[in-house]
Amino acid sequence: MLIRGGTVVDVDGERAADVRTGPDGRIAEVGLALAAGQGEEVVDATSWLVVPGGVDVHTHLHLPLGAVAASDDFATGTAAAAVGGTTTLVEYVTAYRGERPLDALAAWSARAEPAAVDYGFHMTFTEAVGEGAVADCVERGVTSFKLYMAYPDTLQVGDDVIVAVLRAAARHGGLVTVHAENGWEIEALRRQALAEGRTGVVEHANTRPARLEAGAVSRVASMAERVGAAAYIVHVSSAPALAAVREAQERGVALMAETCPQYLHLDAGRLAGEDGEQFVCTPPLRDPWHGEELWHGLASGWVHTVATDHCPFTRVDRRRGVRGREGGWADFTEIPGGLPGIETRLALVYEGVRAGRITAGDWVRLCAEAPARTFGLWPAKGSLQVGADADVVLWDPERRQDLDAASLHMRTDHSPYEGTTATGWPSLVLCRGRVVARDGAFAGEAGWGRYVARQPVFR
Ligand code: MN
Repeated sequence: MLIRGGTVVDVDGERAADVRTGPDGRIAEVGLALAAGQGEEVVDATSWLVVPGGVDVHTHLHLPLGAVAASDDFATGTAAAAVGGTTTLVEYVTAYRGERPLDALAAWSARAEPAAVDYGFHMTFTEAVGEGAVADCVERGVTSFKLYMAYPDTLQVGDDVIVAVLRAAARHGGLVTVHAENGWEIEALRRQALAEGRTGVVEHANTRPARLEAGAVSRVASMAERVGAAAYIVHVSSAPALAAVREAQERGVALMAETCPQYLHLDAGRLAGEDGEQFVCTPPLRDPWHGEELWHGLASGWVHTVATDHCPFTRVDRRRGVRGREGGWADFTEIPGGLPGIETRLALVYEGVRAGRITAGDWVRLCAEAPARTFGLWPAKGSLQVGADADVVLWDPERRQDLDAASLHMRTDHSPYEGTTATGWPSLVLCRGRVVARDGAFAGEAGWGRYVARQPVFR
């Protein structure tokens, strides 16, 4: 395919260029005024941006939560990803307590077979593991790990485990990603709220204050510094947490940070509204000024990536809650947390380009290049250089897309952006040279997506 007349934006900057994809599913040529070959399909990209396929490094396409479960799976979630311009995702596998990590990986691998775009896996440990567990994962291309500092009942690990996994990961070139919130203090605040009869949705945010996020970020930073390892904070949601990230970076700690579109566009006021339960996610939505600071962090480079933490629920499941009550959840601690987002990430970050908060180059860096580099997918992913996978998004900066659930492809009946319209949406999306979405509709096939064994980057 020859993509002609567009404006290419990638690591080499923003310029007029044609892009040719080859029969091997890779970028064959990038240059000016390329001539069409015999029988070659030519796409006119005049007035479009031509950018690398999006790389979403934080998804939950399989996530059981008590009596309910996240409502997308690898078939529906990857189709939605394709429509929105994401051609690679990295899903969090969880090895629950007592479960062997490689068994969890095998189970997730089987679930991922219907994927329509490419995918990799992170491994979540929920208890102490030996260095062998880390080595086993790295050997299989699972080069990043996840540890929770929250949810003591199910997922949280102690600082002793964090230090041990940081050390093991560093020896194998892997990267530890961390959910940074002080789980024990949050437990105390939740118990206190319930004891005082404060059970409503807003207590979800009241019991997870930003200072408990910031404190956890600082703890990770000092552990990583002492061990001499890199670390990556997932879903940074608040200004104090961002300040803690920045402080660590400025003293030389290899600390990276991710944020998500919901923390850039939505605020805690939503929790008090009629549909408040639909906006429960963790960390919680914050007051609007935090979002302003996060945009500044994206433009300044303190925040490296934008991923989604995609984890949707249906209205029925959200109401039933994690205990599956027919009459609905009894208090805020039972509301399943997570928001849909895998389809809307590129558009929601592009809003920042339109508003002059970030450049188009920043947008590509945050949504494709940096996640690919950080998680060992570069240069096959996140790049339009010759030889890279032909994962290409033809982005129409003027195309308008309603962001209500009925107009999108994620398997959920609520969109956090209900009633709003994005300007800027993919016209054509390629994954390894194959069209996977066209004009806002899925055009791929289940099973096209391949598992990507990722490289250990932090040697
Ligand atoms: Mn998550």
